Amino acid sequence: MPEYIVLLGPPGAGKGTQAKVISETLGLMHISSGDIFRENLKAQTELGKLAQTYMNKGELVPDDVTIAMIKDRLSKPDCEKGALLDGFPRTPAQAVALDETLVSLGGKVQCVPLIAVEPEVLIERLSGRWSCRAQGHVYHSKYNPPKQAGICDIDGSELYQREDDQPATVERRIKVYVEQTAPLIEYYQKKQLLVEVDGTQPIEVVTEQMMSAIKKAIK
Ligand code: ADP
Ligand code: ADP
Repeated sequence: MPEYIVLLGPPGAGKGTQAKVISETLGLMHISSGDIFRENLKAQTELGKLAQTYMNKGELVPDDVTIAMIKDRLSKPDCEKGALLDGFPRTPAQAVALDETLVSLGGKVQCVPLIAVEPEVLIERLSGRWSCRAQGHVYHSKYNPPKQAGICDIDGSELYQREDDQPATVERRIKVYVEQTAPLIEYYQKKQLLVEVDGTQPIEVVTEQMMSAIKKAIK
């Protein structure tokens, strides 16, 4: 049976950072809705152009297009063993659509680690974030600097600062998280899938605690 894990947490909590390591350890595809939107933006597809107007403002891309995009992605052969979802679902409608999609793929959500970090820390995290152009690896100028400034340790591509990581947009994204995504905490709590991890601990400690929760859930 394919295995599906959903990472929850506000913007800047560390979802992408953890997803890269954990997906590799578990041999699951890392599916980041934000990365897929950014790839489409780079390629100037219709989806990318549509998403851009929302992303720049820190708003969510409408559910119908987002759901269709993820549904399509999860049905690709490279997701046969399952996936680690990062940034999706972000609304109750997306969560319900995900459950339905996974039924049709013969699986279900098995564990939902919530990376908890308070808003004050998030602004500092995102204003120091550097992202890799090629594969979305993430660094922080202070907390997780690359070996060579401006270059990804893993694939050598250029590092850049995301336009939506400016403080004003970050504040809007945090508000959007509280209003539209935080209700998912209760949704997954009711299904007994939620495991909260303190995301202010060092990266490796967060990874360890998430791994141990996931292993318990999928064994
Ligand atoms: P973060 O680093 O905040 O987790 P992401 O890279 O996941 O950011 O998302 C960047 C932007 O892409 C969001 O602010 C939003 O505009 C859009 N986006 C990503 N995932 C979703 C989603 N599941 N639903 C709607 N919009 C999304
Ligand atoms: P998200 O995907 O949830 O938006 P990221 O994984 O991109 O978050 O992390 C946001 C920023 O915080 C990045 O610059 C990353 O290097 C840094 N970061 C991630 N986890 C930690 C941590 N545990 N302690 C300090 N900084 C962290």
